[in-house]
Amino acid sequence: MALSRRNFTKMLGVAAAGAVVAPRMAMGKPAGFNINKKGGKAKMKLTFKPYPLEMQHTFTVAEYSRNSTPDVLTQIEFDGAVGYGEASMPPYLGESIATATAFLKKVNLEQFPDPFRIDDILTYVDSIAVGNPAAKASIDIALHDLLGKLVNQPLYKLWGLNPNNTPYTDFTIGIDKPEVVRAKTEEAIKMKQHLKVLKVKLGRGNDQEMIDTVRSVTNLPLYVDVNQGWKDKSKALDMIYWLKEKGVVFVEQPMPKDQIDDMAWLTEYSPLPTMADEAFQRLPDIVDKIKGVYSGINIKLMKSTGLYEAQKMITVARALDMKVMVGCMTETSCGVSAVAQLSPLVDWGDMDGNLLIKNDPFTGMKVVDGKVTLTDLPGIGIKKI
Ligand code: MG
Repeated sequence: MALSRRNFTKMLGVAAAGAVVAPRMAMGKPAGFNINKKGGKAKMKLTFKPYPLEMQHTFTVAEYSRNSTPDVLTQIEFDGAVGYGEASMPPYLGESIATATAFLKKVNLEQFPDPFRIDDILTYVDSIAVGNPAAKASIDIALHDLLGKLVNQPLYKLWGLNPNNTPYTDFTIGIDKPEVVRAKTEEAIKMKQHLKVLKVKLGRGNDQEMIDTVRSVTNLPLYVDVNQGWKDKSKALDMIYWLKEKGVVFVEQPMPKDQIDDMAWLTEYSPLPTMADEAFQRLPDIVDKIKGVYSGINIKLMKSTGLYEAQKMITVARALDMKVMVGCMTETSCGVSAVAQLSPLVDWGDMDGNLLIKNDPFTGMKVVDGKVTLTDLPGIGIKKI
C-alpha cells in the first residue's frame, strides 16, 4: 500500500497510542505528547552544529577529488527525548555549511505542539525556501528519530518492514592508478564486514583498466557508477556489453544528466539496468525526467529531503516498474542508519558512507556478512559514541 502522508501519520498515531500513551495514562498523566513531564506544554527544540567529515582516503570520481565533506549535525529535543539528524553536503550539489546553517536558523519547530504532525511539519519546512535538500533532510531524519524514540520502536517496525529483507551493500572503489586500485580492492575484500559486492567508479577514460585491475583481485559482483562520465551513447553501449561479461550488475548515471535522448536510447538497448543518480532529486522528477529514460533510481536522503519523501519515491518507482536502490553521500552512521530503515523495500544498497570517514560520532546500522543489518534501537537505530 502506498504510504501517503496522511496514512503514515495515522499509522504512527496508532503505534503511539499502543506503545506510549497507555503507560502514561496508567501513571495518571494525560494522554498525548504535548504535555511535558512537569505538566507544561512541551516544545520541539532544534539545535545544530557544523561537523566536517574527515575521509579515510582521498575520494576520486569522474569530476573531482576531495579529502573532507561538509556536514551539519542536527538535534530535535522534545519532552526528554532527542532525535538526531544530519546534512551531508558534497560540494557538487551546491549546499554548504553556510547555506545549511542559514536555512536551519529560519526553522521554527516550536510553533508545532505535536511532533507526530509530521505532514504539517515537513510541509512547512519544505516551504521555507526552495532547494536545500540536505538541510531539509537533517530535520526529517531528526524528526523521524524523535518519533521512534517517543514510541520506543525502530522505524522499520512502525513501517511494517521485515528486517531480513535488507539488501547487501557495496563498498566503493574510487578511480586511481592500477597499483592503488589493487591495494584498495584487496583492503576492501579483507574488511570485517565481509562484503559481497563492490562498486567501481568509472568515467575518466581508464574504465577497462579499472575493471581489469579489480578483477585481478576478486570475482565479487560489481556495481558501476560512471558519474556522467560517458558522452557517446554508442561507445557507452559497447562498454556496457563488455561490463556485463565482467560480472557487472548495473550501471549508474552513465551519461550526462542533460543528454536525455541519448540516455533513453542507451537504456532501451542496454543489457544491464541503468540507474539515475545525478539526473534526479525530488519526487516529481521520477515522472518528469526518469520514466522511460532510466531503468531505475538511486534514492539518497540528501537529495530527497529525507525519509518522508523517499518512501513516496519508492512507491512511485515501483508503480512505474522501476528498479530502486538506496545510496548515501559520505555520511555518519546517522544518515546511513536512517536510510537503512527503508532498505527492506529496495533492490540494491550503496550504503558505505560511514565506512569512508574517520570521525563517525555515532554507531548504528552494521554491515554483517555484506548485508545491511538493522539494530533494535528505537527511531533510526543509532547511539552516540
Ligand atoms: Mg552515484
